Amino acid sequence: MFQTSLLRINRKIVTNIMPKQQTDLLKIKQFAAKRENENFRFRVFLKGKDGNKIDEIAHQLHKEITPQIDCTLCGNCCNCMKPEIYEEDMNRLSLLENISSEKYLADYCEKDDGDIYLKNIPCRYLDGKKCSIYESRPTQCRNFPYTDEDGFISRLYGMISFYEICPIVFNLMERLKQELRFRR
Ligand code: SF4
Ligand code: SF4
Repeated sequence: MFQTSLLRINRKIVTNIMPKQQTDLLKIKQFAAKRENENFRFRVFLKGKDGNKIDEIAHQLHKEITPQIDCTLCGNCCNCMKPEIYEEDMNRLSLLENISSEKYLADYCEKDDGDIYLKNIPCRYLDGKKCSIYESRPTQCRNFPYTDEDGFISRLYGMISFYEICPIVFNLMERLKQELRFRR
């Protein structure tokens, strides 16, 4: 069990000695390769914890870390992932393209196991490192990387795979290891 007051004290100490957030995508990829086994062990370690407490800490870390990382200078998720497209996304995007949703589906999407995804990597809407349709972007793009949502330990497989892609997830996972005194 975690003791919230103790964690608060730990957080203060850890925050004071933390370097700035790591945003170098190449370094993050290299760390991810080196820490593959460690991250697998961390996943097993987290599975045995109280999910509500982990959510509480993850949400706090999300609040601390996300203001320090500028997604418009990154765009890495748009470079290597395909967002799922829900019906409301399809309606909005087809209107934006001035075509029917059927044509949007045929021209820009692909189906996988009954789900619909944008089909190009990098995303066709990525302009440099920025989303060119930011206000209309799909729901999944708005919510990624889900670090402020409940159920963190039910999404560990995804979190471990996002660790090498997304600086928010990388920094949050590293902070989480420190907060929980995980032995590397
Ligand atoms: S729609 Fe925008 S935010 Fe979503 S993957 Fe494409 S470029 Fe990125
Ligand atoms: S969500 Fe993560 S990978 Fe995507 S742009 Fe922001 S920091 Fe980069």
